[in-house]
Amino acid sequence: MILRVDNLVKHYGAGRGAVVHAADGVSLEIAQGEVLGLVGESGSGKSTVGKCVLRLTEPTSGTIELDGRDITHLSRRALRPLRRDVHMVFQDPYSSLNPRFTIEQIVAEPLRRHGVAKGGEVSRRVTAMMERVGLPRQMLARFPHELSGGQRQRVGLARALILEPKLVVADEPVSALDVSVQASVLNLITDLQRDMGFSCLFITHDLSVVRFLADRIAVMYLGEIVETGPTDQIFAEPRHPYTQALLSAAPVPDPVEQRQRRRVVLGGEIPSPLDPPPGCRFHTRCPLAQDVCRTAVPALRDPYGGRHTVACHLVTDEKIPDATAAH
Ligand code: SF4
Repeated sequence: MILRVDNLVKHYGAGRGAVVHAADGVSLEIAQGEVLGLVGESGSGKSTVGKCVLRLTEPTSGTIELDGRDITHLSRRALRPLRRDVHMVFQDPYSSLNPRFTIEQIVAEPLRRHGVAKGGEVSRRVTAMMERVGLPRQMLARFPHELSGGQRQRVGLARALILEPKLVVADEPVSALDVSVQASVLNLITDLQRDMGFSCLFITHDLSVVRFLADRIAVMYLGEIVETGPTDQIFAEPRHPYTQALLSAAPVPDPVEQRQRRRVVLGGEIPSPLDPPPGCRFHTRCPLAQDVCRTAVPALRDPYGGRHTVACHLVTDEKIPDATAAH
């Protein structure tokens, strides 16, 4: 496994003894060359998990293993060589690119920081990387503000990939872009991932974004993973009422199917992570909630095999709940 996160907890103090439960017992794995889509609404804790993986924030408890090595408590100094192996692509490419640096300086920066290339080798690798992300070499002398959003995200990708990392953490890399350029950047990420073979933790609020990119999907709700499974299975047979609701809200290309679909309309907002509901955290919005859901925490189980796990009291060996039938 390239990445193994076990029972990760991240709580923040929020003043006056209040605690934000950003991540509560999150476990996930990413194999060599695998793409895991981590999906959830804003406030679900998905970005916190990404930051903990990169050690941009310190976990409260749990372990993070990178390529078989426990990095949970490594000092900044000891982490430094490992930073070559993990890179991040941010949501907003503009704020993550230094406005005073040229594109060439930005893309070359990881090579220089880690001392892996010098002189002509640096420009050779930078030029090759620009070509891979579909940007003309003339752009190297420009500054970030001279580029479009899509071009800036391509620069962000070039910078993240120039050291050929083993793992890329991409946090909503297309959600700040115009819809018209989202697809081309997603296609580029897909092509680069297939060519270069890096593993990827792809964080998004939009399930449809990861449909053709992720091998597996993990759905998060209020700091916990509620369902994980192979992408095809999650789309064909979502088992958790929350996943069913997310999928029923996503548009489908076929207008007939779109009209016939039963939608699950979730009431209210995601509750505050300052005071998550007891029992199943989804019970305040779940159309199928029963008494047991208000008190007992459902465990993540894999009732049918196939590495498709779900945390819901109503999933039994014989039955999968159907939240779309509740309306
Ligand atoms: Fe809904 Fe209960 Fe299942 Fe939670 S455990 S998703 S509240 S049915």
